[in-house]
Amino acid sequence: MVVIMTSGSGTKICDISGCSKEAERSISLKKVKETKLSVKPECTRSANLCKEHYREFKKETKKDRKFEKLGY
Ligand SMILES: [Zn+2]
Repeated sequence: MVVIMTSGSGTKICDISGCSKEAERSISLKKVKETKLSVKPECTRSANLCKEHYREFKKETKKDRKFEKLGY
């Protein structure tokens, strides 16, 4: 099947409040809420993140893992 890239209805926008960039990844809303990123209120199930916010999300979750490894 051919995926047709259209600008408009098919394009997802980042769900972080104040951001209107094109979303690249879809992350479980629960996980995003564990970070300091603030999700738009209309977002209910999964959050779409743009490249930049996904990177921030990853940074945050990495930090958590590091703390766990230290055993505190
Ligand atoms: Zn964003």
